[in-house]
Amino acid sequence: MPMPVFKLIGDLSVDTGTWFRSMNEKVQSWIHTDKVFRVEEDEERMDNALAEEIYELERCIECGCCVAACGKANMAPEGFMGATAFNRIARFMMDPRDQRSTDEYFEVVGNDEGIFGCLGLLGCEDTCPKKIPLQDQLGILRRKMGFSQVKHLFKTLIPGGHSHVGTKSM
Ligand code: SF4
Ligand code: SF4
Repeated sequence: MPMPVFKLIGDLSVDTGTWFRSMNEKVQSWIHTDKVFRVEEDEERMDNALAEEIYELERCIECGCCVAACGKANMAPEGFMGATAFNRIARFMMDPRDQRSTDEYFEVVGNDEGIFGCLGLLGCEDTCPKKIPLQDQLGILRRKMGFSQVKHLFKTLIPGGHSHVGTKSM
């Protein structure tokens, strides 16, 4: 059968490209920085171990298997980001060049379309042909966003209280 969730083109063929483009736009899947890129300057070095960790998550080939296998994505095909999106977010959270704060990530993924809508049954990790550690990223992201949610709650309960959450240190 054709993969569910994605728009059927015909026979077994589905349109994964439109879904992935929309997802990447939703999670703003690019480095957010105010640094100006200067082509004449040397590239900034990154710690090798960290670069390897980021590369581990960069291996997603956008095949869509984790989305097709996801119970929540099948229930809400337009409205759930899926494990591949959480993997993208986790990748940028690790990247020291991305200047977004945890609060800014929370705005993107801290909702029912994002990490709080995940059912946690891990059909995604079971079907990933690249063996990307989706389960680990789901756990880490859920913990970070849960912490951020508590901060938001405190801010609501204690007006004027500061709730800034550090960027990469959590
Ligand atoms: S764990 Fe979450 S993202 Fe993975 S298949 Fe289940 S609902 Fe989908
Ligand atoms: S199954 Fe794995 S490789 Fe395919 S889209 Fe999902 S995370 Fe990427």
